[in-house]
Amino acid sequence: MTPQPPEQSAERGQRRWIYALDVKGTYQQIHRWTGRALQVILVVVPWITVAGRPAVRIDLPARRLYAMGGVFTAQDTILLVLMGLAAAFTLFLFTALYGRLWCGYACPQTVFLEEWIRPIESWLEGSRSLRMARDRLPWSRSIGGARLWDKVWRRGAKWTAFALVAATVAMAFMTWFVGARVIWGGQASPVSYGLTGVLALGMFVDFTWFREQFCNYLCPYARFQGALTDTESLVVAYDDLRGEPRRAVPAKNPPIQASVPQTGACIDCKKCVAVCPQGIDIRGGFQLECISCARCVDACEDVFAKLREKDPNVGPALVGYTALQPASVFRPRTLAYGVLLAVILGSFGMLLAEHHHIAANLDRAPGMLYVIDPDGWTRNTYLLQLTNNEHVPNRYEVTMSEMPSSAEITAPAVVVEPGKTVVMPVIVRIPPHTSGARTLPLMLTVAGGDDAITLATTFKTSGG
Ligand code: SF4
Ligand code: SF4
Repeated sequence: MTPQPPEQSAERGQRRWIYALDVKGTYQQIHRWTGRALQVILVVVPWITVAGRPAVRIDLPARRLYAMGGVFTAQDTILLVLMGLAAAFTLFLFTALYGRLWCGYACPQTVFLEEWIRPIESWLEGSRSLRMARDRLPWSRSIGGARLWDKVWRRGAKWTAFALVAATVAMAFMTWFVGARVIWGGQASPVSYGLTGVLALGMFVDFTWFREQFCNYLCPYARFQGALTDTESLVVAYDDLRGEPRRAVPAKNPPIQASVPQTGACIDCKKCVAVCPQGIDIRGGFQLECISCARCVDACEDVFAKLREKDPNVGPALVGYTALQPASVFRPRTLAYGVLLAVILGSFGMLLAEHHHIAANLDRAPGMLYVIDPDGWTRNTYLLQLTNNEHVPNRYEVTMSEMPSSAEITAPAVVVEPGKTVVMPVIVRIPPHTSGARTLPLMLTVAGGDDAITLATTFKTSGG
């Protein structure tokens, strides 16, 4: 996993290791606070309960999804499909409007690399130039008085820190599937901990070696970017009209010069290139590898802020967020995504309003419409199939309505374990001569936990 310094990796097709220069600026502050907020969500949400249920949990073994007090099972497939579609179209709409802001600010890969991995690397292995020098140096030689031991302990400490970050993040991810108390309390199954280990290992390899290659070669979202964006989407771009032709900076002179003319404003300091975690020179035009992280924007702004100190007439920085042509929020692509998203959310809302934690199905007992008992009462027997979609056992009771007041129901209360289904008989009887109708409407209400569901059926009689 030893990276190849640029000088040794110039051959075509060979990976060029990227040593991203540290950068500060407005967008990096936004990064920082967005990343911190997302990490708080990642860690804290699995501890929250709503109405005694996990606020959010994807319980794969039980094929159950908990979301804001609701419980969704395999029987709620349509709701789950609508949820997935809503998430997809939100991403499509957001991407059409704002390009790859997700990649630059909210993708876990970016957040963990920016918040933990790059700072740890800088802290333990020094500045960009020092890291390059260390990697260039054979293990057997020294640099700046430091000997092999210096390189060994720094690399060892860095990888140990990366392993700790990977393990912690993997545990945090798994809490969304297994439950925070369960996994942090050591009560999860060996399979869960095994999967956590695999996830941690994958992240460790990503942190130590794979990095930007994940975006360039593996991420499916990055692959279909081109189909989702157009020339009105927000991208990071270089103002070549003002920037070109570039003015080379002599190597031994200070890189920043005053009195930069309005044309050819780029002083070719290459700071925008040095800070790029994707190894891009944004001055070459829009590139698919660009994740819109705006490190180059802050870098160029920093350069121009210093230029402005010497010449207040210097214009704005040359790299910034922009659209390739004047942008309108309302255009065919965004309207299509917006309308579809509204339809999906509307359908989801309507179905959600009718959603229950009880799944119940009522059938007439096979082989009989009605029976006249020896005491003259008319009896109908039904089979009630009842599923408890909650995560705790519940006691269910069945009551009836719409029937004459003299009617009686026999349906003992039943306790159903979470995720289990029971089938129970329900007997309804009416006294003789109650009604001359051959069919009476009958409503059965099943209540348990904090939910109730009403089933409509009919009661059959001889009509006498
Ligand atoms: S070109 Fe700029 S915005 Fe794009 S990845 Fe590189 S630093 Fe980030
Ligand atoms: S940081 Fe700005 S001035 Fe420096 S090379 Fe990049 S575009 Fe040119």
